[in-house]
This record gives sequence, structure tokens and C-alpha cells, in this order.
Amino acid sequence: MKETWKELPIGCIIEEGGTSRKFKTGDWRSERAIFSKEKCTNCLLCYIYCPDDSIIMKNDKVVGIDYDFCKGCGICAKICKAKAIEMKPER
Ligand code: SF4
Ligand code: SF4
Repeated sequence: MKETWKELPIGCIIEEGGTSRKFKTGDWRSERAIFSKEKCTNCLLCYIYCPDDSIIMKNDKVVGIDYDFCKGCGICAKICKAKAIEMKPER
């Protein structure tokens, strides 16, 4: 008998269709999030809200953006009250 979606465990990863664990998805981007270390207050809102887990942390501080996976959605720039992330057109 063929398996249907009903047999899949909750929260499983379907490997056959491709997953962003193996494929870099940053080249879908049309806008680039530019991070300013000087303006950042380290509130971590961007880290919480980024849907692609693309905010890079080091020693509990934001240090940059992972462009291999950032899709340029702009959520981080919108949520940042310190205006430490700015969206610029991708080149
Ligand atoms: S939301 Fe802005 S101020 Fe807060 S950690 Fe991210 S870049 Fe820094
Ligand atoms: S632009 Fe979107 S995907 Fe990229 S770091 Fe910001 S929230 Fe994450």
C-alpha cells in the first residue's frame, strides 16, 4: 500500500522535494538586508522574527546576516527599532 500524508509523523522533513538544509536559498533574494553593528542594541527581535534563521549570533550578540539563506523578506528591517538593518536592492 502506498503511504499518504496521513502516515507522516508530525513535524517531519520531506527530503525528496529538497530542503534548505542542503540547498542554499539566498539566491532567491531581490533585496539585501544590511546590518549595522554600530546601531544595533542587541534586542534580538530580528533573531526571533527571521523566518529563515539567517541572523548570525556570536557570544549572544548579533554579528551579521547569513546571505546563503537570507531571502530578503525585510522582516528584520521592519522589526528593528534601532534601524540597524536596512534593505538595499540586490546586485
Ligand atoms: S532588531 Fe535591530 S537592534 Fe535588535 S538585535 Fe536585531 S539588528 Fe540589533
Ligand atoms: S531579510 Fe528576512 S530572511 Fe533575511 S535576515 Fe531579514 S528576516 Fe531573515
